[in-house]
Amino acid sequence: MANDSKVKQHIPKELRYSMRDFNLEFPNDSACLQYIADQKYPEGRAQCAKCKQVRKHHRVGNRTAYACDYCGSQIYPLVGTIFEKSTTPLKTWFYAMYLIGSTRCGISAKQVQRETGVTYKTAWRMFKQIRSLLSEGDLQLEGPTVEVDETYVGGVRKYGVGRPMRGDKKKTAVVGIVQRRGMAIAKVVSDATAKRLLGVVRKHVTPGSTVYTDEFPSYNTLAKGRRYIHRRIRHAAGIYVKGDIHTNSVEGLWSLIKRGIGGVYHHVDPEYLQHYLDEYCFRYNRRHSGNQQFKAILLRASRQVS
Ligand SMILES: [Zn+2]
Repeated sequence: MANDSKVKQHIPKELRYSMRDFNLEFPNDSACLQYIADQKYPEGRAQCAKCKQVRKHHRVGNRTAYACDYCGSQIYPLVGTIFEKSTTPLKTWFYAMYLIGSTRCGISAKQVQRETGVTYKTAWRMFKQIRSLLSEGDLQLEGPTVEVDETYVGGVRKYGVGRPMRGDKKKTAVVGIVQRRGMAIAKVVSDATAKRLLGVVRKHVTPGSTVYTDEFPSYNTLAKGRRYIHRRIRHAAGIYVKGDIHTNSVEGLWSLIKRGIGGVYHHVDPEYLQHYLDEYCFRYNRRHSGNQQFKAILLRASRQVS
């Protein structure tokens, strides 16, 4: 595995956000609500529907409402967020996000159930919704070294290992794109044909980039129209690393994902696989930011408008 795909265990002090930090910043539901309101209404100011202009707003008693200082018209910071219709306390939600943002390999709904006292079903549902915030769908990868590879996740193999054969119908194809020492993205595809794989590459890799793949035939036309410079590694010949022609970074991402899904989630429904991939890429892309990942998740959750 390439060095850059390893996640450091030691977190530098300035990137550490401990359980104690968490409890100091978010002692109760009220502090959590105020944090979300602060993201949505900078300096307490928001558009008032009645006054038709930006006004200062203040919290209304113990409710999740804020009222216009001038006319009293109310707004609700949780509208359009994953918290809107939930009866689970905000602090429990924040704690679940803290756990997701603090782990290296993923965390199970069982663990959240144990640590917060919500039911397994509730914990599982919270996870699903938090994970839905972690997509990096618009990410553009570029540069002199972008690695592309495909793999298969989930299902039950009938024969051996490697690319699937007849009878392995439940395996889901996934294409991964990794900038060496940079960002990563992984997408579920309906099959591993050139059409699907190159479709994802064209969407997420900036033209002019140098793309490294193995000899899988679906990549044959990658350099067509001189859109990309294409370098290939001959895995079949047993040559894994020839100078800088390798796909070690994307293979590092696969091992991270497969270790996590195998070890933590055990079984992933293909329907939810994309969300899990998003979670792993989100984590991978912030692997140098310690457990400040929590704050990145929190910002997405606070600003989300459905
Ligand atoms: Zn008003």
